[in-house]
Amino acid sequence: MIQAPRGTFDILPDSAAQRKVVEEQVEKVLGAAGYRRIETPTFEATDLFARGVGEATDIVQKEMYTFDDGGGRSLTLRPEGTAPVCRAYVEHGMHKLAQPVKLWYLSTFFRAEAPQRGRYRQFWQVGAEAIGSAAPETDAELIVLLADLLQALQVKETRLRLSSLGTPETRAEYREELKRFLRKHEDELSEEVRSRIDLNPLRAFDADDARTRSVMSDAPILLDRLNEDDAEHFAQVRALLDDAGIRYELDPTLVRGLDYYTRTVWEFTSDALGAQSGVGGGGRYDGLMEILDGPPTPGVGWAAGIERMLLAASDLAAPADLVDLFVALAKPDGNRTAFELAREARRAGLQAQLELAGRSLKGQLKHADRIHARWVAIVGENGVVTLKDMESGDQHDAPVQNVIPTILRGGAKS
Ligand code: AMP
Repeated sequence: MIQAPRGTFDILPDSAAQRKVVEEQVEKVLGAAGYRRIETPTFEATDLFARGVGEATDIVQKEMYTFDDGGGRSLTLRPEGTAPVCRAYVEHGMHKLAQPVKLWYLSTFFRAEAPQRGRYRQFWQVGAEAIGSAAPETDAELIVLLADLLQALQVKETRLRLSSLGTPETRAEYREELKRFLRKHEDELSEEVRSRIDLNPLRAFDADDARTRSVMSDAPILLDRLNEDDAEHFAQVRALLDDAGIRYELDPTLVRGLDYYTRTVWEFTSDALGAQSGVGGGGRYDGLMEILDGPPTPGVGWAAGIERMLLAASDLAAPADLVDLFVALAKPDGNRTAFELAREARRAGLQAQLELAGRSLKGQLKHADRIHARWVAIVGENGVVTLKDMESGDQHDAPVQNVIPTILRGGAKS
C-alpha cells in the first residue's frame, strides 16, 4: 500500500476546518495592523536560500530538498519564507511603495529533518514581515502581534525569549572573541562543537553536552558587546514590550537557525510541547536585502508553525458545517427534479446536499439526521415533494417550486 511520505501528513476535513479558524485569526490579528497577504512559489532558485539563509546553517547544509529542474538549474523546495518574500520585494520594486511594506503568508515549507512529534518534512507556517523600517516600534509591534495571535489561538504555556544580535560588525568581532575562547577550551568541548568552531561558533551555546555547557557558562556574551546604537535600539524594543505587558526572558544565548538576523531576535516556546517546543520566532534582518542584491533595506519578521500551535492549543473548536437542505429520493433511480432542486437551492445561497449513495428512504433520513440537515425534501414522481422539518419533525407535501421559498422564509409552511 502506498502511504504518505515519511514526515508528511494529510489534512483531513475536520483538521482543515480547524485550520480555517487559524487562518481567520491570522487575518484578523495581522490585518488589523495593516499586514497584507503574499504567497511566493513553493520552490525557488537554490541560490536564494544558500545566500539568504546562510551556507553555514543546518537548513542549507542538511535540510533542503534540492533538485535539478531538468535544464541544469538547481531548485529547492522552500525551507523558510523570509528569503522568498525579500526576493519578491526586490523583484517587484516594492521599495517604491510606502514603507514599511507589511506582509504575511500562510503556506507549506519543507525541511529534510528527522520526523517526530511537532517536526515534519512538510509543515505549515504563518509568517509576517515588515520591510523598510528600522524603527524599534516595528520589532515590538511584530512581537506583540505574534503574542496576540498565540493568545487568540489559545496556545498554552507560552514563554518568550528575547535577545539582540547587534550589527554584522559587532557580531564579527564577537565571533572572533568567541572563537578564541572556544579554542582555549577546545579539550572540553564536544566533537560537534569543536568541528564547527570556525564555521558557526555561536552554535556552541545550543550544545546539549554537559561539559560543553559548563564551558559555555563562562563564555563572553554578545549582549555585553553591542554598540551604543544597537544597545539603544534593543532598550527601546524592551521598553515597548514592557509597556505592552509582554513578559519575556532575556536569553543572550538565543541563536536563531538562520544566519541573516541582526539586532532583535526572539522565540516563543510552549511548555505544553515536548522536545520540539519552538512555536514561533523571528528577528530583524537588516543585511538580508543586500545579500539578495536589493537596495539596502531594513526588515524584521517572524514565522510560527501551524502544527505546533495546534498541538499546544486548547481544543480549538471549528464551527460545525451547516446543511440547510438534504434532497432525498423517494425512488432510488435517476431523478432529474432532485438534482435540479439541489442545484437551485445552492444558487439561492443554501447549503444543499443530494442523495448520492442509493440508500433506502429510511437510510436517507438517517443520513440527513447524521449530517444535521435542517430540512429534507423527499422528491417523488411528478415533481411532488415531501418537505420535512427536521427540527419539529413536521412534514407536508408541496410542489417542488415551493421548497426553496419555504426554507428561505425560515420555516413558514407553504
Ligand atoms: P524557524 O523558521 O526554524 O524559526 O521556524 C519557525 C517555526 O516553524 C518554529 O517555531 C516551528 O513552530 C515551526 N517549524 C520549524 N520547523 C518545523 C518542522 N520541521 N516541522 C514543523 N514545524 C516546524
